[in-house]
Amino acid sequence: MALAYAPSLETTPVRIAPRYEHFIGGRWVGSTGGETFATVNPANEEVLAQVAAGTADDVDRAVAAARTAYERSWRPMRPADRAKYLYRIARAITERSRELAVLETKDGGKPIKESRDFDVVQAAAHFFYYAGWADKLRYAIHGATDPAPVGVVGSIVPWNFPLLMAAWKLAPALACGNTVVLKPAETTPLTALLLAEICEEADLPPGVVNVVTGDGRTGAALVGHPGVDKIAFTGSTEVGKIIQRTVAGTGKRLTLELGGKAANIVFADAPLDQAVEGVVNGIYFNQGHVCCAGSRLLVQESVHDALVEKLAARIETLRLGDPLDKNTDIGAINSAAQHAKITELVRSGIDEGAVLHEQSCALPARGWYHRASFFTGVSQAHRIAREEIFGPVLAIMTFRTADEAIEKANNTPYGLSAGVWTDKGAKSMYVAQRLRAGVVWCSTFNQFDPSSPFGGYRESGFGREGGVAGLRPYLSA
Ligand code: NAP
Ligand code: MG
Repeated sequence: MALAYAPSLETTPVRIAPRYEHFIGGRWVGSTGGETFATVNPANEEVLAQVAAGTADDVDRAVAAARTAYERSWRPMRPADRAKYLYRIARAITERSRELAVLETKDGGKPIKESRDFDVVQAAAHFFYYAGWADKLRYAIHGATDPAPVGVVGSIVPWNFPLLMAAWKLAPALACGNTVVLKPAETTPLTALLLAEICEEADLPPGVVNVVTGDGRTGAALVGHPGVDKIAFTGSTEVGKIIQRTVAGTGKRLTLELGGKAANIVFADAPLDQAVEGVVNGIYFNQGHVCCAGSRLLVQESVHDALVEKLAARIETLRLGDPLDKNTDIGAINSAAQHAKITELVRSGIDEGAVLHEQSCALPARGWYHRASFFTGVSQAHRIAREEIFGPVLAIMTFRTADEAIEKANNTPYGLSAGVWTDKGAKSMYVAQRLRAGVVWCSTFNQFDPSSPFGGYRESGFGREGGVAGLRPYLSA
């Protein structure tokens, strides 16, 4: 049953230029190759703009600009003055928040209420938080009296939280006195370019932040550039492994924030309605394009049927459609390629014998969409239980005892996040302490704060972003 409702469109006008260039050394410059690529709106498949395709020469120019800025302006600057720039960027993000939110939604497909209330708010919060650290770095690492910056940082970010991941990378790097070359994802370059414009308007010294747009080849050129002192990468485990091999033996520093297959564990004593809300948030937030998504639901056997019934009813109420509609819960899938990947994995789930449940709404005629879905009858061996789907698709399995839940939750090469739902505090602690995950949420899910570290174990990567721990990768002490 689809719900009828009136759309409530976000109408803030946003200027999108027909063509975008790189931001290098404080200037907007075209690609040395002269080539561009299109970025499209996945909600309707319309081309939004042409964007410069970064070559190895472009990367070289950006690294040189970052090196000059590092030596001449940013590293020598008084830390309290660096902080002023970060505060200025944070305030500008807040002032231009609506514009950033609309741009993020158009370029990437996520619901406007998420861009507006989560991505942009958190991006500003990261700059505010790390601005406060800039003149207190002597307290950042125990025993180090005067930690120094690392140098030129190459930051590579994915398409699921384009502005926020750029903020996660830039804010701590700049606060510590490093300069940055940022490579946004091919499908979502526009908010990174608006962030560059904000840096320009904040009078950030030229070359402190550089943005080179392009695809994986541009990213690879940045990783391989000898003038880069550190790589900070968020994206797939597959590319993370390539980067780790490239960087091995070069002396470059590296942090990797990769994929996940988080277990969300619901015990029979949990308040079920609250747990269902947590399950929905855990898997359907941002269409499931979330590395820490609660994509495996482990539910205690005695409440499996009740929970599945509630979940089936709840997904019928999720509104799928135009991401610019303020009522939309499920927006567009980021790209045709990602849509194909999700579809292929859903097909494998059916073929391997699991039972698919999905919301019954109609899909828009244009654009890439996928209904909120979940599978029951899933075994741990199924691909949908092992592989990161990165879409709005949940795999439900059962357990009988806490130790069985822990064993199943840890039965994955990943280790990024997990959730535990029980009304017993001691049980939360018992389980949380035994889960091999960088973040464990108890009776909640997907909670973020700039003061709280985030990061993984094993194939989910290494290094932490956020909090005091998030400064360490950007300091040599
Ligand atoms: P990806 O290929 O790892 O992309 C992440 C970033 O790395 C993008 O900026 C990408 O550029 C760039 N890149 C690609 N190849 C590179 C290389 N050889 N060297 C350096 N940089 C390179 O991820 P994706 O293709 O967008 O997504 C694939 C899968 O990864 C998803 O289905 C999902 O499972 C997972 N994923 C995880 C996260 C996360 O936050 N953990 C985020 C996104 C995706 P282009 O985008 O321009 O190719
Ligand atoms: Mg796009």
